[in-house]
Parts: sequence; C-alpha cells; structure tokens
Amino acid sequence: MSSHDDSLRSDTQVLTRGFDPMLSVGSARPAVFRSSTYVFSSPESAEHAFDIMGGRAKRAPGEGVDLVYSRFNHPNAEILEAQIVPLEDGATGALAFNSGMAAIMTALFTFVRPGDSIVYTVPIYGGTQHMIEDFLTLYGIHGERVVAGNREQMRAVLARAKNVKMVLVESPANPTLIMSDIRDACDSAGQLASKPLVMVDNTLLGPTFQHPLLHGADIVMYSATKYLSGFSDMIGGVLLAKDAELIRQMRSKRSLFGNILQPDECWMLNGRLTTVALRMKAAGENARQIAEALVGHPKLEQVIYPTLFADAEQKRIFQAQCDQAGAMLSLVIKGGKPGAFEFLRHVRIVRNAVSLGGVESLVCHPKTTTHSGFTEAEFAQAGVSDGLVRVSVGIEDWRDLLADFEQALATV
Ligand SMILES: *Cc1c(COP(=O)(O)O)cnc(C)c1O
Repeated sequence: MSSHDDSLRSDTQVLTRGFDPMLSVGSARPAVFRSSTYVFSSPESAEHAFDIMGGRAKRAPGEGVDLVYSRFNHPNAEILEAQIVPLEDGATGALAFNSGMAAIMTALFTFVRPGDSIVYTVPIYGGTQHMIEDFLTLYGIHGERVVAGNREQMRAVLARAKNVKMVLVESPANPTLIMSDIRDACDSAGQLASKPLVMVDNTLLGPTFQHPLLHGADIVMYSATKYLSGFSDMIGGVLLAKDAELIRQMRSKRSLFGNILQPDECWMLNGRLTTVALRMKAAGENARQIAEALVGHPKLEQVIYPTLFADAEQKRIFQAQCDQAGAMLSLVIKGGKPGAFEFLRHVRIVRNAVSLGGVESLVCHPKTTTHSGFTEAEFAQAGVSDGLVRVSVGIEDWRDLLADFEQALATV
C-alpha cells in the first residue's frame, strides 16, 4: 500500500512498512476498513486483479493491484502482513488467519496430498496432533512422530516415512520446554527426494527470541492469540515464509477456505506488533528471575526453564537456537495432583486458565486440562506428570509474582 525502505531496522519498519496515512484520510495510525467489497478504479483494473488472483498474470514488484473482496484480501490484512514481515528475520511475506489452527490447517492443506506423510515432533500442540491423527488420516495422509529433541530419530523417521511433504517442528515443546534442533531437521529434510517443507510453530519464543527461517525453515507459524497479540483478548494466526511463491500458494487456499483474519482483529493485532518485543523481553526477564529464585524450593521437585537445563544436548540446542529463554516455565510440585491442585487453588495474583503469552500471568495443570487426551505412554514421553503446573509469566512485578507462588506453595 505504500513504498517502504527495507534498510530500516525492524522496530522502525513495524510502524512504517506498508502504511500510507494518505490512504487513511491522513490518520497517523491505520484506520479500520470494514468493507466487504471494493470499488474498482476501472474495468481493466478489475480484469487485471482477477487475472492475478487466478494465476493468469503476475504482480510486478511493488505494483499496487485493486482490492476485490475481503475474503481474499483487505487493507487491514495488507498493513498487518507488511508490518509483521520485518519482525520475522528472513521472511519476505506473511498471511493473517482467524486462528492459529486455521494457519496450520491452511499450510497443511496447501502442501500435503493423499499418500503423503507429515513428520512432526511430539509433544506438539493438542489441536495440531488432533488435526493430523484424527482428521487428515481420514484423507489418506500419514502422521509420523519424532520425539522432541531427538536428532537421530528425526533422521531415521525421515528416511523411512514415505512421501514426506511436511516436517512440522514445535520448539520448545509445551509444557516441558524440550527443544528440537531446527537446523538439523532442515538439513535432514533437505536430503530427501520428496523435498519436504519445514514448518516451525514458533508461538512460544518468536518472533523475538527464535528465528527459524535463519536456521533453514521454510515456513513459520504462529498462534497470534498468544504473544503476538499479547492481551488474551483475541484469536488469530499467522504464517510467514522466505519464499514468496509459498505465500502465494497458501494465500490462494486462504481465499478458498475463507479463514482470513477480519479487519477489526487485523487492526488490533497490527497495533500490538509494535510492543511484542517489549512485552516478551519484560515477561522473559520476570520468568528468569522467578525460575531461578524457586530452584531448590522444598515444595518443588523441579523447576523447568531453559536457563536451568541440565541435559548437554538440550543446552546446546538452546544456545544455538534461542536468543533468550522466554516467559514460559513449569513447576513440578511435590505431592502430585493434590499438591498441584492445592497450589492452583491458592494463587491470588496469578489466574488458573489455559492459554499463554498475555501480559497477565496464568497457571494451569496440563495433565487434567490441555494435555488430558494423552495416553499414559504419551504422558510419560512428554514428561507431563501429576505435579506439573505450567506457568505463563506476564509483565507484573516479578517480586509480587514470586511472593504469590511462595505463599501458594506454603499451602501445599
Ligand atoms: C495456542 C496454540 C496453537 C493454536 O492456536 P489458536 O490460535 O488457539 O488456534 C498452536 N500452537 C501453539 C504452540 C499454541 O500455543
């Protein structure tokens, strides 16, 4: 929608890229365009816009094309997508979706066909696993699991699975923060004749602390519901890619499915992008202070946080792949489920809710909520124990949060 200067740094571009105030009657910040349809500048422009959508013509670099209809595209999606690109190192394009699941579904439907396999790390977000195992399998697509952090198994599964078209890596895994080596997965995938795409669910550490495209990934996916929007007040998703052709293909499926993010939500998310790094850094610093202060607490079996990793391989991946450890941590409370429930009953500032990535701190008990569909073997493999409580640390004063945790632990 406007010319921009790609030499600017990302904190600047997130405010300037793709936004021309003159197209918003001079308003200094983007307006909301709620129109469902757009008036063409000429019949020829309408014809050209449809030729581009139908793949019969290519958009020239920097060429402005008439908007058509808001299921395909609208100004608030265009501005949001232009401004999120500089936040994801290595990205050239982005697409906004009405949920993280909509983003995952669209990427999988664009690139995977009956007879193909999707190789994915476990544990992975429950909805993602449900989509692959209980829905896509009905259409002849195979899901192949690799235990998070296991490079040898990734290589072995890639070698034996047939027609691998997508490798889906979620790192760190939720709720034990086990990390998978993105670069190694990309290198292994790159050796296959089926040339799979590597997609990384970067919801937990990106875009501030982890940059999968720089480690060789093709597509980065977000639940924008979490840190990107940051206030636990909207649902959204984003896909970003290095290669504009991948974006073009996924955009065409989004137009078909009708799962583009609506103008109001695009506008909200767009404004939140300017503070995502500030929020993530503040919350991450809080999490580090709290995790390190709680190590050795008599009511805790373990504090799980990347700066506290003991495993040499996990330490290596963390150091190679992440700028910082992020704002998620898990506490393994002595006394199993009753201990964990007692803790949840007694926190006062921190709230007992699922989801994560908001400015407010949240705690939940994965075994009975987010991960309750797991089998016993999956619980064991994922490290989801009876006493484990997941914490999404917000931006309150960490000393108040620590005192809240300590008084709740005293009741256990
Ligand atoms: C929340 C979440 C999703 C799903 O996103 P929605 O916005 O809820 O559809 C996917 N992956 C991860 C890691 C998540 O935390």
